[in-house]
Amino acid sequence: MRALIRLLLLTLTVTTVGAQVPQPLPAGAERAYKAVKDRVDGNAAMDIVRFMDAYWRISGNPGFNASVDRIRDGLQAAGVANRAEEFKSRGRGWDYQAGTVSFADSGEVLLSRESDRVSLCINSFSTPGVVEAPLVDVGAGTPADYDGKDVKGAVVLGSAAAGQLWQQAVKARGAIGVISTAIAPYIRPSDPAQFTFPDQWDVFQWGSVPYDETAKAFGFKASLRAATKMRDRLKAAPVKLKVDVRSTFYDGPSRFVVAEIPGTVKPEERIVMVAHIQEPGANDDGSGCGTLYALAVALQKAIAAKALAPPGRTLTFIWGDENRASRQWLTSHPEQAKGVQYMFSLDMTGEDVSKTGGTFLIEKQADPSAVWPRPSDPHTAWGASEVKAEELKGSLLNDVHLAICQRRARETGWVVKTNPYEGGSDHTEFKSAGIPSLLDWHFTDRFYHTNLDRPDKTSPAEMVNVGVAVATSAWFLASATDIDAIAVARHIARAAGGRLALEQKQGASGEILAAWKKWYAEALDSVRRLPVRGPSQAVDREVARITTQLRLRQ
Ligand SMILES: [Zn+2]
Repeated sequence: MRALIRLLLLTLTVTTVGAQVPQPLPAGAERAYKAVKDRVDGNAAMDIVRFMDAYWRISGNPGFNASVDRIRDGLQAAGVANRAEEFKSRGRGWDYQAGTVSFADSGEVLLSRESDRVSLCINSFSTPGVVEAPLVDVGAGTPADYDGKDVKGAVVLGSAAAGQLWQQAVKARGAIGVISTAIAPYIRPSDPAQFTFPDQWDVFQWGSVPYDETAKAFGFKASLRAATKMRDRLKAAPVKLKVDVRSTFYDGPSRFVVAEIPGTVKPEERIVMVAHIQEPGANDDGSGCGTLYALAVALQKAIAAKALAPPGRTLTFIWGDENRASRQWLTSHPEQAKGVQYMFSLDMTGEDVSKTGGTFLIEKQADPSAVWPRPSDPHTAWGASEVKAEELKGSLLNDVHLAICQRRARETGWVVKTNPYEGGSDHTEFKSAGIPSLLDWHFTDRFYHTNLDRPDKTSPAEMVNVGVAVATSAWFLASATDIDAIAVARHIARAAGGRLALEQKQGASGEILAAWKKWYAEALDSVRRLPVRGPSQAVDREVARITTQLRLRQ
């Protein structure tokens, strides 16, 4: 046993040293990279971001549908074949025309659509004209905080989540609406003395209250500046607020866009890329939509210019309501879903990292680092989600996409990091369908889900970096030859060697080492399915050779 480990370590030391030197991409990937690198148009991506930023997009509402149409029109003009599909929305679409809170006496406006854009909570109902109501502060908003306070007919201010405040104040005690200051600690600390940016006084995270036709209430999210004004006034005397809400609900279907560049060899096999339209942010996820749009157009242009052959497998691009459109596409096209080889989710891909913080991240397809926390693979502030060891199924996806991103990084100085699987966006739906999927994103964004996630926080250059990397990866995975596959097998071998050496160094248990070996044996096996013209004896031989050499199957 000991001798065996020493032997393994020896092999690994050699392969790890090799891994330090940047390796050229497989020829097919390099060809795709060169063909798309100057064709992904950051300004075209930015135009989509600016267009979508004008709307609070919610499935079924006019801004969401305008975004669908804008993306379709652009694809149409660029000659990318596309169609819109639809399904029944889970809830009602919603938007608002006015959401203003002011002091009743002075008329000073505290919150408004004009200055705060997304302060009114989703599902807020219109007030019967401008209403006047007392303001009651419940602090943290625990049930005990309501003791001795009469909130019936009042507007309730608190730091609990809007839905929680709404439950306690509106549903249980008859308030007419709530104002919540709940905010994630990575957006701003609760103590202003710890603020590192002046905008932390004005930032807030948008939210929602439950849809309730009986309560017909409203919710607002407020910045610390607005809440402090209200609390200061309350210290002196009782306060009355004026509230004016005009909102609209919509019952239309949820629409999504599907564009395709058909495969010429195995059109029934697919590489799928998804970005979500809903939410109000420029980065989240106007930038994912813009990036996906620009990369689809770039591939189409490269192919039209004969700089790149059409893909061997079909490239499918989807823009829709996060998770739901993915689920809908997977279930309403079972035959196509069966043929999906790999999937990329694009969320918050355009962050100007100098303003938002965080970095570009590849959230890897769930690998052993998603099951066992590893010092080398920290989670983000988003947090881990439970992944069971039995769920893991190794593939080439993580290492191939990382290599392509690093190729881009070497040329542009782009910072590329990875995080273990955490889940929550469209890749989760494809993962559930058993498809190797990853997420390209950025975190921690200190404007995540806030009023300040606007186009000035979006970087066209960052969208170009992500767009070039995803276009290259997708075309390559759709079109690889057997020679490409052999290059990928050798790359996976280096990655496997590097990982096993790293795990030895960071004291991994036998169980963890075994999990990585299993992962990489499966990843190598997936290389056998990579050549678009079908299995190749040369690839099979190389995979078998490496698997034996690295002792991945024991
Ligand atoms: Zn998002």
